[in-house]
Amino acid sequence: MKIILMGGPGAGKGTQASPLVERFKFPHISTGDMFRAAIKEGTALGLKAKSYMDAGGLVPDEVTIGIVEERLAQPDCKDGFLLDGFPRTLAQGRALADILDRLGMKLDGVINIEVAEDVLIPRLTGRRICRQCGASYHMVFNPPKVEGVCECGGELYQRSDDTVETAKNRLNVYNTQTEPLIAFYEEKGLLKRINGDQPIDKVFQDILKALG
Ligand SMILES: [Zn+2]
Repeated sequence: MKIILMGGPGAGKGTQASPLVERFKFPHISTGDMFRAAIKEGTALGLKAKSYMDAGGLVPDEVTIGIVEERLAQPDCKDGFLLDGFPRTLAQGRALADILDRLGMKLDGVINIEVAEDVLIPRLTGRRICRQCGASYHMVFNPPKVEGVCECGGELYQRSDDTVETAKNRLNVYNTQTEPLIAFYEEKGLLKRINGDQPIDKVFQDILKALG
């Protein structure tokens, strides 16, 4: 099974990766992991990526694409893989199509976990932290027993980067980047839209069903 797992901030993509890996026994390839591995192995591309990351910048597409190709060419990807975090843009999607052509591989599906913005905003802004002990709560997933108050009695506060405005901005950036990519996979008949506004287990079952 060769699949791409997509989903924006708060959609629960990360939560679905491990059960998928457990079910299909394929390598979980996330761009972040790929960079770390390439850097550790000291490949030419790894060194290049490291120089960008050390300089505090974004790794350019050509480097990312090169690392993905190196990784997909390894024998453990022959029968399947889960791509996570890549591709992120239409240009990357096209480059991936070329890589797969060169490797004689075909995608089985592109899973897109979809959640409406009015559900995502509370997920992305729900974190509350205790001023006294540093404990972390979440208004949706792990609410405190008493609103605004920690178990220890301390006052809960919201971090300044957890605001609605920041969340909306993150969603906007993600949607703008991925919309053309999603259309690209839809056109190819590969896109599997999954309703992410359901219990984790149900989302997973829907993914399995979509993959047939
Ligand atoms: Zn506390």
